[in-house]
Amino acid sequence: MNTKPAFSGLHPIKIKNARIFYDGSLQNLEMLFDQEKILQIAPEIEVDDDVEIIDAKGLAVLPGLVDTHVHLREPGYEAKETIAAGSRAAAAGGFTTIFAMPNLRPYPSTVETMEPYLEKIANDAVVRVIPFGTITDDEAGRTPTDYAALKKLGIHQFSDDGVGVASGDVMQEAMKKAVEADVLFSCHTEDMNYRAPGASVHEGPYAKKNGWIGIPSACESAQLIRDLGYARQIPVAYHADHISAKESVEALRQAKRDDVNCTAEVTAHHLLLEDRDVQDAMEKMNPPLRSHEDRMALIEGLEDGTLDFIANDHAPHTMEEKTRPMDKAPFGIVALETAFPLLYTEFVDRQKRWSLKQLLEWMAAKPAKRFGLEKTGELREGYRPDFFLADFDRTYTIDPADFESKGKNTPFGGWTANVCVMQTWSEGRPVWTRKDK
Ligand SMILES: [Zn+2]
Repeated sequence: MNTKPAFSGLHPIKIKNARIFYDGSLQNLEMLFDQEKILQIAPEIEVDDDVEIIDAKGLAVLPGLVDTHVHLREPGYEAKETIAAGSRAAAAGGFTTIFAMPNLRPYPSTVETMEPYLEKIANDAVVRVIPFGTITDDEAGRTPTDYAALKKLGIHQFSDDGVGVASGDVMQEAMKKAVEADVLFSCHTEDMNYRAPGASVHEGPYAKKNGWIGIPSACESAQLIRDLGYARQIPVAYHADHISAKESVEALRQAKRDDVNCTAEVTAHHLLLEDRDVQDAMEKMNPPLRSHEDRMALIEGLEDGTLDFIANDHAPHTMEEKTRPMDKAPFGIVALETAFPLLYTEFVDRQKRWSLKQLLEWMAAKPAKRFGLEKTGELREGYRPDFFLADFDRTYTIDPADFESKGKNTPFGGWTANVCVMQTWSEGRPVWTRKDK
């Protein structure tokens, strides 16, 4: 007997005729799962009549991606993005777990502001959304947040993204408290002494030629080097956000050699674009797209393990904001719906420089591990039933009008992608399906 509405209880489902990414490669396998876990992956799985069967002929099943650096803008900036739209954008990009940055109004710095925020996420998000707490109260850079209090609500990661913690004394005090509470810091490093008013793009000949005020690489690397110095003395779990400069890569390489507990992320746009690709504020982000040499250092850093994984700094804004003059427009681009298709297309399909296995490790397994997510980021028996169906035979053109995100601010409109996310499943349920035009 068919027991639908089985989705209120556990409803076993089998996917057949797909290529499943298992043990490092795409294989002709079947996968049985319910809404709690993956039950079995095998060449042929015998099932009872009450098991729903999905025929995914022609498609690949890939582990749900993880992004540790996403701006959902809600509460406070709902004209740019909402939890509902941003989490749908995540699903449309193959992401099933995203970490939401805390530069919001109100800031989730206290139990009083975090609780309603968690409730809103529980109601609105279509994939798993895990919020950051702030490193300092309201990201004001003065008082370390009460990490232990927020940890009781399940918050294990803290960031003042958008600004660096300017005071070295405050940062060291915060790091000591983070060690006591056993939480992770995810740090946007930016020393504002290096950033002139109106600075918008990487400082270099290209900025000069266009009459734009530049942001020097030291703006990022000086504070990173400071923090890594503290982390040599204070054993905090330190993660460096959106690394853009070759000097930062070198500082991380040295710190890792010295066994500092540090990891780092790099965004898809810093891997794909350079300062000379900047046309207008649509390519304006912080940190900025840097030189060719920097981009090559990021790619090599990722490949040799100095940079640990990819996170994309999805940063939606309204078109009104992003069409302002260079020095007046806000920093940031949307990324969730383009990161995987474009990285796959450029580095796996076109350059044949990376394997699909490497890309999926950097976009799922490795961020999951560093951010303490259990049974996430791979397709294995007992793991979370989070995955997406992709069509590797389908080529399409990126059109921001198709985005689920409220933000259409992308420099990648018109780019071609050689893989297409068709459907995304979170906790054993389909949460997003591509609408064919
Ligand atoms: Zn940032």
